[in-house]
Amino acid sequence: MLQPNIETFLACDSAYEDATLVIFGAPFDSTTSYRPGTRFGPSAIRHESFGIETYSPYQDKDLEDYAIFDSGDLELCFGSSELALKDIAERAEIILNDGKFPLMIGGEHLVTLGAVRAALKKYPDLHVIHFDAHADLRDEYLGVPLSHACVLRRCHDLVGDGRIHQFCIRSGEREEFRFASQHTDMHKFSFDGLAETIADLKEQNVPIYFTIDLDCLDPGFFPGTGTPEAGGVSFPELLNAILTVTQGNVIAADVNELAPNLDQSGASTALACKITRELMLAICSKSPVCETTAKESFVPGANATTSNMSSVPGANAATSNMSSVPGANAATSKKSSALGTNEVTTADSSATDRDGDLFLYTSFDFEEN
Ligand code: MN
Ligand code: MN
Repeated sequence: MLQPNIETFLACDSAYEDATLVIFGAPFDSTTSYRPGTRFGPSAIRHESFGIETYSPYQDKDLEDYAIFDSGDLELCFGSSELALKDIAERAEIILNDGKFPLMIGGEHLVTLGAVRAALKKYPDLHVIHFDAHADLRDEYLGVPLSHACVLRRCHDLVGDGRIHQFCIRSGEREEFRFASQHTDMHKFSFDGLAETIADLKEQNVPIYFTIDLDCLDPGFFPGTGTPEAGGVSFPELLNAILTVTQGNVIAADVNELAPNLDQSGASTALACKITRELMLAICSKSPVCETTAKESFVPGANATTSNMSSVPGANAATSNMSSVPGANAATSKKSSALGTNEVTTADSSATDRDGDLFLYTSFDFEEN
């Protein structure tokens, strides 16, 4: 029987009723302060996702083993931020109230405020984990309080002191950093302190909203964004950090600030697709909201924490390469060594990194013996 041509993110074709994770796009970029284009982010990620695999060798998990529903993009009002945020909050609220995990694809970063408003209704003791190059703590930008440059400040208005945890921050006004020193838990430049933060939040069992502004990545890896900021993290570092955060009680998340039109090579979009896949897999396999969905076929036996934390090739390599950056990879190395898997990880990583060459050599060596 012929099927209608409805495009979803790769393998996110479960029925809504069955799904425990629901993605939706928020194609909004009306308050973008520099170069626009994030309104094209969700559709680009959805379309280009077919260029990657459903299987993650990092996590040894496959999107096809989980029930995920793609509810498409919201039709948002470009002339009114408040109306757009209202629509976003409504969509997130429906998903949350149905006991499912909302994963929003931006869009500029302001869209996070709508989803956080919805999450707070259900989880009043919400904490926010925020990855970004920018502090996003301005009280207003060009006279407007609703701007992607102010989004975490607006979140602070809602959750209060000590409940916003910021990582990779390397840009902002002096006043934003002053504000952070008194009101948020800001970690500059890297993921230093992330493992400790998540361990603490996990111990308290507090709900976490997880927002990833992709410009936390270095523009060398991710140029397709409106306000690129030199000095960012690498893909393996971000992936490892995602696997750390999802050890906590994450109840909703978003990935934002891809402007696909600003990287004609398509590499930024491909990276965003891969991050989205890894985030979905990490959520589906670990979040309490989704834990009932993992199918029986999923690799049994492996300790999720150990395998996830130890299987990110390049994260360890990045540590040594970037050792002069203050705090780089502290979360990674501390977590790995705490688990006692650092040596094994390194060996596995090099085997994976070398691709065909090393495997060919290994095979030849085996036959000779
Ligand atoms: Mn941001
Ligand atoms: Mn940013």
